[in-house]
Amino acid sequence: MLTKKKEIKFKINGLIDKPKYQSLVCTCSKDDVLHQHPNEMCYSCYCNIAWDSVPKESFNVIVKNKKGKSTKTITEITLHRDSSLDRINGWSWIS
Ligand SMILES: [Zn+2]
Repeated sequence: MLTKKKEIKFKINGLIDKPKYQSLVCTCSKDDVLHQHPNEMCYSCYCNIAWDSVPKESFNVIVKNKKGKSTKTITEITLHRDSSLDRINGWSWIS
């Protein structure tokens, strides 16, 4: 019998419709492998990799408290962006 996996909703605060960096065109050299991603990358690739590194679904972290260690499921994160190109500088969660 199939059991339906419980889906945990995941919320990302700070999403915007069209980040400015998405209008950038990749300028990585297509001729020279040393000047292509991942050896070197243009600002467009750099910004897209930053987005790719953002979790898109819930994840577990181990937290220390007075009782020792416990596992906590993170279901909401907040993005941190630079103001000039909306590039994602990082993300955080509130524990
Ligand atoms: Zn590129």
